[in-house]
Amino acid sequence: MKISIVRDSETLRYAAEELAKYLHLMDADVSAEVLVSNACGEGITLGLLSDLGLPTDDVDDEMIDDVIDADINALCGYVAGSNERSVLMGVYNYLKSAGCYWVRPGANGEYIPQKSMKEHVFRMRKKADYPFRGQCIEGAVSFEHVYETILWLPKVNMNLFMIEQIIPYNYMNRWYRHTVNTRLDESNEPPYEQYCAYVDEWEKAIKKCGLQFHALGHGALNEPFGIRHMISGQHYDVPEETKKAFALVGGKRELCNSSPFFTQVCMSQDWVRKRIVTWLADYLEEKPYIDFLHFWLADYKNNHCECEDCIQKTPSDWYVQMLNELDAELTTRGNHAKIVFIMYVDTLWPPIVEKLNNPRRFILTTAATTRAPGDTYSDRRCPDGIPAWKRNQHSSPNKGFEQLLSFVDAWKPVFDGPRFLFEYFLYTKHFEDPGYMQFSRNLARDMKHLHLTGFHGVMSDQTQRASFPTGLPNAMQGEFQFDSSADVEAYIDSYMQVSFGTDWQAAKNYLDGITQLFAVDSLAQKTDVTAQDTGAEDDHSKKADIFGNEEAGKSIAQVSAYVDAFADTVTKNLQVSDPCQRESWRILVYHGEYCKRLAGIYVELSKNNAEGATRLLDNMIDYLSEVEPEIHSYFDLVLFAQRIKQIIAGI
Ligand SMILES: [Zn+2]
Repeated sequence: MKISIVRDSETLRYAAEELAKYLHLMDADVSAEVLVSNACGEGITLGLLSDLGLPTDDVDDEMIDDVIDADINALCGYVAGSNERSVLMGVYNYLKSAGCYWVRPGANGEYIPQKSMKEHVFRMRKKADYPFRGQCIEGAVSFEHVYETILWLPKVNMNLFMIEQIIPYNYMNRWYRHTVNTRLDESNEPPYEQYCAYVDEWEKAIKKCGLQFHALGHGALNEPFGIRHMISGQHYDVPEETKKAFALVGGKRELCNSSPFFTQVCMSQDWVRKRIVTWLADYLEEKPYIDFLHFWLADYKNNHCECEDCIQKTPSDWYVQMLNELDAELTTRGNHAKIVFIMYVDTLWPPIVEKLNNPRRFILTTAATTRAPGDTYSDRRCPDGIPAWKRNQHSSPNKGFEQLLSFVDAWKPVFDGPRFLFEYFLYTKHFEDPGYMQFSRNLARDMKHLHLTGFHGVMSDQTQRASFPTGLPNAMQGEFQFDSSADVEAYIDSYMQVSFGTDWQAAKNYLDGITQLFAVDSLAQKTDVTAQDTGAEDDHSKKADIFGNEEAGKSIAQVSAYVDAFADTVTKNLQVSDPCQRESWRILVYHGEYCKRLAGIYVELSKNNAEGATRLLDNMIDYLSEVEPEIHSYFDLVLFAQRIKQIIAGI
């Protein structure tokens, strides 16, 4: 058969090659030849909606909106999209309709059934419910962890990836130096140039899939002044001349907390703003394939400049002034990249005097760092509105999502355009539900309620290693933002069927049982993510409910026997012939031991024995260090250790 691509672009060619590859894997009788052709008569044609004369009235912005239109009957027809990634996603939707699935990133996550495709019929026309659906690099991750994730995203209808910072050295470095692992050391850490080469390869993969490429964010603010953020705790030599650009805080112009990541600049100085704007515009010229440039201020609070000029306006006013200057510079240079600005810490408050001159250039994001346990998204606003802003006297408002929406309302006179949430679902929150089952259902529920918030999607700041025991929450995040009308339980059942095969119902029941026995509500985080990480949260009344919780302790104490009772089913299924399903069961071997050890820790906490829990955690980290080579693609030891230590410490 023939697969015709209407235009010879990298993404369409990749879509055609993927289609040919998986058709052949499903049905050895199907052998496809990829050719560039306008002819629509024979085989399957791939192209944009406009190429194939299909309606485009539901497409507002080709770079953002994903519309898939496909009609294939007996290996004849077309897959079209509003943009090239939609064509690729359309191909995967066609393959999924025939039973293929990608249950987690990587080759071992591919489930490809044997099936004759000669009679298969597929028809879809769908505009994604949310135009921003994807992940941002986080955790402790290798080149491969991120690379496999990028290739996986369009397979679950996600459409973007963000590489934060110029070189996300701190995230990769934690993996390559094996910072938490007690058995592996840093002897195989690659040189810095290799990290840069990895980023190049990721960027190529993002463009190959046609994904929205989001870049920068935190960590670039001091780059124009010659200081590259590497990792926290590192020593940075800063010339006196450069310090003149830093914010004046407490009478000093110095690195905040010794890190350029946290250091604000003195935004009232013309040369400082100009240096930043020119640097950002140059950076976009160097990387013209960046679709969305995230220009954010530093990642800290109470550190804005107190100089005579800066105090004349709020940080948000200076920020918006710089955003306007950047927009003007890009317009002069003919660059059409979108700029993503962020409501974060001080810039949660809207500017008082400045306005955005060209709102069409911009997209808004904001970090949803705090949400009460059990709360889903709603359209509720904070009855008190927003608190008064005071320079460098910011205490985390921490009034949850309602207040965030009040801040969004306050910004609306300045900006009422596209916006998405920067969320933290699989940063560390997934560790609070070792079975992932309630966590996944809550996530799907959130995606169904997202429309109430006025946000146009979620960028998930998360480790790219979060499929332990399953990739269910990751997959649901994409699929339920693409089509929020999907049925949650039906989706879970179909996911479990392809993941585990014949004994899928037993596996599903088992994981539901793990979630239930762990009394996961008692483990839920109550503190703000930022506060946890910076240690700024000293309100220990927000510790998890597991402390002194006898009832939860009693339930969790049953985990060990429960895991043992399922061991025979796991062992039996280690022999199944399908490699994807075999891998799903293999993961449960390690996951079982993980649950038993984790249960021991929580039982100690239920008796208020933090010391005993710490001792067990140390042993557990040593065990996980030993088996990390077996599970590293699915489990992030660094973030796990970080979160469980925080839970034990009551934050
Ligand atoms: Zn200043």
